[in-house]
Amino acid sequence: MGVELWVSRDRDRDGAGGRGPGAGEERTEERGSGFEEGDRAGGQGPGAREERIEDRGSRFEDLEPQDTASANSPIINSSPAAAPASPSARGPRPPAPAEGRPPSALDPGPSALSWDQLRIAVQTCTACSLHETRTQTVFGIGDPNSSLMVIGEAPGADEDRQGEPFVGRAGQLLNVMLEAIGFAREQVYIANIIKCRPPGNRDPHIEETAACQPYLHRQIALLQPRLILSVGRISAHNLLGTEEAVGRLRGRVHRFDPGDIPLIVTYHPAYLLRRPQEKAKAWQDLQAAYRVLNDLMD
Ligand code: SF4
Repeated sequence: MGVELWVSRDRDRDGAGGRGPGAGEERTEERGSGFEEGDRAGGQGPGAREERIEDRGSRFEDLEPQDTASANSPIINSSPAAAPASPSARGPRPPAPAEGRPPSALDPGPSALSWDQLRIAVQTCTACSLHETRTQTVFGIGDPNSSLMVIGEAPGADEDRQGEPFVGRAGQLLNVMLEAIGFAREQVYIANIIKCRPPGNRDPHIEETAACQPYLHRQIALLQPRLILSVGRISAHNLLGTEEAVGRLRGRVHRFDPGDIPLIVTYHPAYLLRRPQEKAKAWQDLQAAYRVLNDLMD
């Protein structure tokens, strides 16, 4: 798979933060649509599958989050050539330690934990001050064998209340976005950069993201996704170690290190709810994600 560009990066340079009202908008400077109709017409991907997701793009751009009609997956449920490899075909996973033993002070840290141990470690974590104000931790949800991992930034009020990432209207829109490329919500794995809600939905502090990073890195190591979809500014900055605007980070395939995992940056659905005119760009990013996953299956 080669590095692919699908936008001209000097077209937009917005911030595209996700959770708080207005987040990122002050960093937004529009310089054009950034989405060419020619691309939407199927110019970047031959074949019937491409045409089908083009149809879904129209649906995605038109729909509101409450419209979550199901879609058959061209990646998961279509022809064998388009189907992602089964977990067993994706190469060996790192050995997991024995289940059942809760983490303790003697444990060597999240990098050695199994899924169950990691979940317990997060639930009981007091490594940063966010534990003082959380209702509950928000660990992550989805298929632990998925080829696609979606990483957002931090729990908001709804997530803090329900203990699940991407719920509420932003979560519903994320579901529509995923369905547009053939994934039901339960077929991907969804997590955040940090696991506890920052008070007032403020941006997480650097010491908080640093304290929580080992948990996310262990989730990625356990999952071994074929592609990471990074949504929003906080996610992209932390995963890529940069402060570039989302508008400049989208449009190319990055690599997440450790693991050398392909990573695509797009807008946070909360941002898209505030700026629906940007859905076209997000759809362009989703098409690219679809192509990357398909290329990896070839
Ligand atoms: S945000 Fe992460 S590091 Fe901080 S208390 Fe919550 S789980 Fe622990």
